[in-house]
Formats: sequence, structure tokens, C-alpha cells
Amino acid sequence: MTAAPADPAPSDEPPVVLRLADCSKTYPGSPPVHALRSADLTVRAGDYLTVVGPSGSGKSTLLNLLGLLDRPTAGTFTLAGVDVAGLPERERTALRGRRIGFVFQEFHLLPYRTARENVALAQLYVTGRAADRDRAATDALERVGLGHRLHALPTTLSGGERQRVAIARALVNEPDLLLCDEPTGNLDSATATTVMDLLGRLNAAGVTLVVITHDPAVAARARRRVTILDGRILAPDEHPGATAAGHPALGKAGAP
Ligand code: ADP
Repeated sequence: MTAAPADPAPSDEPPVVLRLADCSKTYPGSPPVHALRSADLTVRAGDYLTVVGPSGSGKSTLLNLLGLLDRPTAGTFTLAGVDVAGLPERERTALRGRRIGFVFQEFHLLPYRTARENVALAQLYVTGRAADRDRAATDALERVGLGHRLHALPTTLSGGERQRVAIARALVNEPDLLLCDEPTGNLDSATATTVMDLLGRLNAAGVTLVVITHDPAVAARARRRVTILDGRILAPDEHPGATAAGHPALGKAGAP
């Protein structure tokens, strides 16, 4: 029997990307809705975490807090070491643009812009040089296997390809965290598998992933899984076995 070290050196652990401590969100009304109750959650660099729960359990509320789209009613939220709950909106917007990449169920691509233009536009806040933006957008599209479709309009791409463009757009600023909301919700199951395979490969290459989903098959891909129910994050359900069996990158591209 091996005992866990009593006091593991802090440096053994990857750095903390975000931490929610005793966070609650209450929507006003009569009665008020306690959408998130005393949530504690830590995400470290390189994590692959899914948050799973039924409709109405508080997933969107949590996503909005993690993505700096809303503020907690109580508790603290630190992102990359910065306590963000009380920051002015302008600073939160800047932090969101630099630190977080979003992937939504709806791809939200601009229809009259090419794949590369859609990705390049995400860097408007980061660099003023169009040539730099184009180069970074090309790199990001190559990362998701779309280097050959740089100039395609979204209407000429399949659903899976559109989601890959959206993933490239989310990655292009090299965020600390990729925050995915039902990333396969608009895809058929075969295409969903290829998108989840891609997310798995990106995680294996170091991208920190938080995936919010109601779909158990999507949730099963992650190494860490938490369940949210009636606004409460249940005790963390660690799945170390998922690393080998359920992690597509390690099962395929990551295999020696
Ligand atoms: P999920 O994403 O898991 O479906 P939500 O986070 O959207 O859950 O909702 C959690 C609870 O908060 C639900 O009871 C929902 O009706 C309520 N809720 C969500 N947004 C608001 C809002 N803006 N005002 C009042 N109640 C809300």
C-alpha cells in the first residue's frame, strides 16, 4: 500500500489556471433562483475537465462565471492568479480576450468571411498587424487540420469543419483555457467523434480544456469530471482510467 505524501511540494502540481472558491450565483426574483451554490473548483494547466449535469442544473451559469461573462453573487474567482470578481468590465473584457478561448454549440462564424478571416478577426485586440494576424490564423487552422481550407467560406464547409474553424479561432490567441459549451451539440455522432478526437489531441499537446455538456459520451472523454445538480457541484469524480481508455489522443496519435 502506498501512502500519499503528507505534504506534496507545491511545485509538483501544474500551475492553477482558475479557482472558484465558495462561489454562488443568485438571480433576483420572487423567489430568487440559487443557480450556483457555494461552488469550489480548481483547474490546473493541462487539465481536461468536463462539467456534466441535466438541463437547469446550473451549467450555463457556471460557464458564464468561468468565461467572465457574468459575476458571482458571492465568493471569489481567480483567473491566472488575478481575482476577477471585482474587476471593472473593461479589464474583464481584456482578460477574457487574452486568457479564454470559447467554443460554442453554434459555431458563430461570420458567413461572408473566409475561414482564415474568421480566425484572424479574433486577434484584433491582440495585434494591429494584419500580416501577423494572417500568419497566426493560418497556424491555428493548420493545428486543427484545415490548412487546406484557409480561403473557404463557412457555407462551403461541413458542420465538423465549421466547428474546427471555431476551435482554431478559440486557440489563436493562445489562451490559458479553452472553454467549450456543448461543442458537439450541432453535430451528428460521427462528426462529433472527430471533433472530440481533436479536442483530445489538443489537450495532449498541452491545451487546458473545460467542456460543459449534458452528454455523457462527451463527458466520458475527460480525465476529470464533475457533476452539477441543482446548482451544487458534487464531490469531484476523478477518472484516471479515462487517460488510457477514453483519451483519443493517447489511444491514437499519442501512442508511441
Ligand atoms: P443549465 O445550463 O444547466 O440548463 P442554467 O444555468 O441555465 O442551467 O440555469 C440554472 C437555474 O437558473 C435554472 O433554474 C434557470 O431557470 C435559472 N436561471 C438561469 N438564468 C437566469 C436568469 N437570467 N434569471 C433568472 N433565473 C435564471
